[in-house]
Amino acid sequence: MNSTTTTDLACYCTVCGQHIDAFTPYRGHNSRPPLMALLNVIGSNTSQFLCPSCGCHDRERHLLMYLAKLNLLPILGSSARILHFAPEQWLSQLIQLQNPAFYLMADLYPQSEQVEKIDIHEIPYPDASFTLVIANHVLEHVDDDRRAMQEIRRVLTVGGLAILQTPYSASLHNTFSDPGVVSPEQRLQLFGQEDHVRLFGRDIFERFAEAGFNPLVVTHHQVMSDMSAVVYGINENEPLFLFEAV
Ligand SMILES: [Zn+2]
Repeated sequence: MNSTTTTDLACYCTVCGQHIDAFTPYRGHNSRPPLMALLNVIGSNTSQFLCPSCGCHDRERHLLMYLAKLNLLPILGSSARILHFAPEQWLSQLIQLQNPAFYLMADLYPQSEQVEKIDIHEIPYPDASFTLVIANHVLEHVDDDRRAMQEIRRVLTVGGLAILQTPYSASLHNTFSDPGVVSPEQRLQLFGQEDHVRLFGRDIFERFAEAGFNPLVVTHHQVMSDMSAVVYGINENEPLFLFEAV
C-alpha cells in the first residue's frame, strides 16, 4: 500500500505528459506586486508556474491546450508561413513537427543560432510574408506597442492569424506607461515585471483593431471549463489572444 504510482499524483503537465505532485511557484514564492493583485492583472499563474519535470511555464501549457482544444494545429501545417518571436521551446518543437512551409524564429536578442535577430518595430520582410505571427509576452516589453502591432499586421496575409498573449488588466480603461518609470523595481511594482515597460488596459483591443486586427479571442471557460486550473497548472482567467488580419 506504500507504493505510489505516478497517476496518484495531483497534477498533470500537458506539455511533457507527466503526472506530478505540484507545479513550482514563480521564483519559488506566490507573491506578486500588490498593484498587480489590486488591478486583477491577468498573467501567469504564479502559484503553479513551472513544471518540475519539463520546465515549461503555465502560459505555455495553457497556449498548447488552447491550440489542441480549438483544433488549431492546421494553422501550423504544410501551407503555413510562420514568424515566431521570442520562441517558446515546446511550442517551437510542436510547430516544427507540423512541417510548416516556412518557419522563422526571431528575437531582438537571440540566444541561439537558429533564431534570427529581428526588431519587431521594423520586421525586415515584405508585406504579407506570413500566414501566422506568434509573439507571446512581447508587447509589454517593446518601446512602441502600436508600431509593433502595425508591423505584425503588415507582414501578415489578409486572413492571417496572430497569437499575441499579453498580460493586461480589464480594470484599467487605458494602457499605462510612463517614461519616468525606469528602474527595475519601479517597473516590477507598476508593470508587473522588471523589464515590462507598460501595463495594458482594456483599450488593448482598440489598439489591435486600429492596427487592422479582428479579435477571435477565446476564454478558458468557453472551450475547457472542464479542465481544472489546479490540476493543469494554468490561469483559467487567461484568454487566448488570437487575432485575424483584416
Ligand atoms: Zn511538464
